[in-house]
Amino acid sequence: MTLSIPFDNTYANLPTNFYSKLTAKTVSDPSLIAYNSPLAIELGITGGNDRELTEIFSGNKIAIGSDPLAQLYSGHQFGQYNPQLGDGRALLLGETIGSDGLRRDIQLKGSGPTPYSRSGDGRAWLGPILREYVVSEAMHALGIPTTRALAAVLSGETVLREKLFPGAILTRVASSHIRIGTFQVYAAQRDWSSLKTLLDYAIARHYPHVEGPLGFLEAVIKSQAALIPKWMGVGFIHGVMNTDNCQVAGETIDYGPCAFMDRYNPMQVYSSIDRMGRYAYSTQPDIIVWNMAQLATALVPLMPDGDEAVEAFTKAIHAMPRLINQNWRTIFAAKIGISAVHPEDERLINALLTLMTDGQADFTNTFADLGSTSAREQFIEPKKYDMWEIEWQKRIATEKDPHTLMAKSNPVLVPRNHRIEEIILAALMGDYAPFQRLQIALNAPFEKNSEFSDLRRPPSVAQEVKATFCGT
Ligand code: AMP
Ligand code: MG
Repeated sequence: MTLSIPFDNTYANLPTNFYSKLTAKTVSDPSLIAYNSPLAIELGITGGNDRELTEIFSGNKIAIGSDPLAQLYSGHQFGQYNPQLGDGRALLLGETIGSDGLRRDIQLKGSGPTPYSRSGDGRAWLGPILREYVVSEAMHALGIPTTRALAAVLSGETVLREKLFPGAILTRVASSHIRIGTFQVYAAQRDWSSLKTLLDYAIARHYPHVEGPLGFLEAVIKSQAALIPKWMGVGFIHGVMNTDNCQVAGETIDYGPCAFMDRYNPMQVYSSIDRMGRYAYSTQPDIIVWNMAQLATALVPLMPDGDEAVEAFTKAIHAMPRLINQNWRTIFAAKIGISAVHPEDERLINALLTLMTDGQADFTNTFADLGSTSAREQFIEPKKYDMWEIEWQKRIATEKDPHTLMAKSNPVLVPRNHRIEEIILAALMGDYAPFQRLQIALNAPFEKNSEFSDLRRPPSVAQEVKATFCGT
């Protein structure tokens, strides 16, 4: 059956200052690395042999109904406003309405230069494409809202970074690619008409039940206040929480220098460009509030009365840390088997985290094995952990089914950095088996499957990844 993608595009009908329409730059000799058939079915895509999939998802051929465009946006990068970013290496092919009734974007990443490429080449190399494929799909399996990976292809061309690497293209799927930075660009231009058009579009697409700029802001705050504690709960560090990498539907987006922590360290940073630790693990809840304040600043001019609006917006932002903390407490309480959370449980959670910091305990394995000797072995001074465990056992004795709750709240497998490096190195040698195996394992991250017990192991000193790099 020939490939059919039931495109139903709306962004392409927005005013022409929202994007640049262009086609992907063709590549010389593309080949398919991966195709996510279950996701394709969700999107309503049917048919397609390897050759057709390769042509469409390399950008060499435009599918019927596709109206490709690069989206304009701006954003604060490490706190500094950059007035023009936009899709410099991505191209929105269009949208489909899936079998579940949800509208989603289908986007190529690494598809060649666009008017927003600035000095970049519009391309991506194999490493970041495999990283995003594995990590975004793992996040989905962990139950965390995220963009998805539909396909990955090798371009057959090389891309120059520190040296020459094989080029690759990812097909990314998202409920939309509207970012805080998409609002910021029109606010900065004082183009209130475009700002209003974007707001109405984003409300209709993501939050049809809300009204006006304040309703929208509150809805985005709620989504992001749910998302960031979920990251914290799996030891995830995004690495570049710039406002252009913050999507308004509350999906994790832009897997650049992101990483899952091995040893627990609240100040952990992996990104090579984050020298001040702005986006460290434990600063993420503060940064998201800062980002929301930028969204509020962009939206407030759409309010009729200046002073009152500023007050209402300020109140919404000020309420966010509490919301985040409540969600954080619920998630971490569940991780230690507590479903009916009491305020004093926060002390018990924090006591464990302090012990984990001091004891250099592995984040994932400590929680996954809590209550067993292998958790105890995570700590440099196990006796300190023993004291905590006595108090904890007393607390969970009043819970109905703490162990079932823990089993579904504590993943056994996360995509550890050294494993990602390993699959990339193998792929560079033409061996995709480790990539495929890691994907299969991460499909069921809560299962203690002995077949994948090697993937549970933290890195040895030699395997440890000290820094991750932007996905360019
Ligand atoms: P990121 O840090 O990946 O979110 O990217 C920030 C901005 O740089 C976005 O506007 C990207 O489109 C752009 N960009 C990143 N890599 C490239 C590249 N290789 N070519 C062109 N633009 C790029
Ligand atoms: Mg980005």
